[in-house]
Amino acid sequence: MSAMLARRVPRTFAARVAPAQARLFSDHAPIGSSLDEPGMPIKRTTFQNYLAVTNGQEAIKSLQEIVKSRDPDQKEFNQAVEEVMEDLEPVFDRNMGLVPVFRYIMEPERVVKFRVPWLNDDGVLRVNRGYRVQYSSALGPYKGGLRFHPTVTESVVKFLGFEQVFKNALTTLPMGGGKGGCDFDPKGKSEAEVVRFCQSFMTELSHYIGRLTDVPAGDIGVGGREIGYMFGQYKRMTRLYEGVLTGKGMTWGGSLIRPEATGYGCVFFARCAIESRGGTLEGARCAISGAGNVAQYTAEKLLQLGAIPVSFSDSSGTIHEPNGFTKANLDDLMHIKNVRRERIRTYVSECSTTAVFKRNVRPWDIPCDYAFPSATQNEVSGDDAKTLVKNGCKGVFEGANMPCAPEAIPVFQDAKIIFAPGKAANAGGVAVSGLEMAQNASMINWERDVVENKLLDIMTSIHTQCEDAAETYGRKGDLKFGANVAGFLKVATAVQEQGV
Ligand code: NDP
Repeated sequence: MSAMLARRVPRTFAARVAPAQARLFSDHAPIGSSLDEPGMPIKRTTFQNYLAVTNGQEAIKSLQEIVKSRDPDQKEFNQAVEEVMEDLEPVFDRNMGLVPVFRYIMEPERVVKFRVPWLNDDGVLRVNRGYRVQYSSALGPYKGGLRFHPTVTESVVKFLGFEQVFKNALTTLPMGGGKGGCDFDPKGKSEAEVVRFCQSFMTELSHYIGRLTDVPAGDIGVGGREIGYMFGQYKRMTRLYEGVLTGKGMTWGGSLIRPEATGYGCVFFARCAIESRGGTLEGARCAISGAGNVAQYTAEKLLQLGAIPVSFSDSSGTIHEPNGFTKANLDDLMHIKNVRRERIRTYVSECSTTAVFKRNVRPWDIPCDYAFPSATQNEVSGDDAKTLVKNGCKGVFEGANMPCAPEAIPVFQDAKIIFAPGKAANAGGVAVSGLEMAQNASMINWERDVVENKLLDIMTSIHTQCEDAAETYGRKGDLKFGANVAGFLKVATAVQEQGV
């Protein structure tokens, strides 16, 4: 290291970083100049701490101060960053050069926020707010879903985008991370209103996306129907017939198994984790929350593997089938949800089984062997986690993104039951989106079993990556730790090699 460089970098830090990283780091914040990042409303001391950290623990504390100071009101985003960061302490201890790389990755490359005007059926102007967070392009074009739900805010979209970066890294496919959406509620809207809204949303979004730039997909409130309306509008705006969205219809560029991929992938991951610990899914009673895309196909694959799904839920309550849903029961529920677009309690009023509907509760008090939270963020509280453990639950597999609240995760870890975080367990959806992009690029369609086998291989590989990373750092069996570390190291390597 040159004498000049040594003068500019704090000794404690300079001693630990590789020369190239130290140079980048020192150029960023030379000693003796202003240490505040432009426009950064944080105390000088906070950033000084960040520069002077000597170990992983100090680094985490300092990074926490930065994220909390910059985005104090973004609760979900803060939670997601914290959840990754807390696992990186031993990684930083081994290589302090990764601290500024994490700081770099923490900040999205771009946040686009836009007006979405549309006319309702009465001719009244409605205005919603749309977002696209292009988080990281280190590993490929931005990739991640669009969510239409009244709870969508910048914080929610940023948390989802941040998670997506590491999830996509784990798939080993060339995809960066992004996420988007709108605070529009498709529930109760007519077909014509959904069409007009989707067209307006895409009119603006089309300026920022493209098959090699940013490739959105579905998420809550965005299924095949909405993807179709948006794809049609993208074509009209750009005159391009290209794979700019995934989750497309089978006759116009979609991939077989994409609708099933998140749920199937989650069950494949669960099977790997359970069997590697000597258990089995066969005969296991499984509590599922949500009743949408992820929940439905989780149940379908569980049934195929001999497990017994016992619940679904939506925002109005839970249905419990004490004897378990059969394939025929599931088909009925899918018809109610996907064709008739009704609430889940309709299932109970029409079925001939002993199913019960419990208003305004979640499924976590139903005794089960395994739980698959597949609705939304923070739907499993600390108390829910204690109830699950008390009732004998042996594993929790996050089909949704961040469904387990921060208080729930230590309960599972203390009880030594399996906890599989969403960024690993639900990566099957984006993985098959990546396979859809590959098929579009080569202008061919693969058979169903080809895609499903590739999905199985990817989920098995993600499980292996998580186990290996956890073992390398002395945290054998901790899948959350392994997912965070393996995902981060892959993105961090690309960032460093590309020059921050
Ligand atoms: P859907 O819109 O198909 O279904 C969502 C389900 O969750 C509905 O039953 C919905 O009930 C329920 N839900 C949503 N918000 C809430 C809430 N605030 N409180 C209670 N229930 C709620 O979405 P998906 O199945 O696609 O997505 C579910 C989860 O999986 C999300 O976290 C998503 O980010 C994640 N995910 C999805 C992927 C995909 O490929 N689709 C990929 C990876 C992750 P209601 O109708 O009453 O709102």
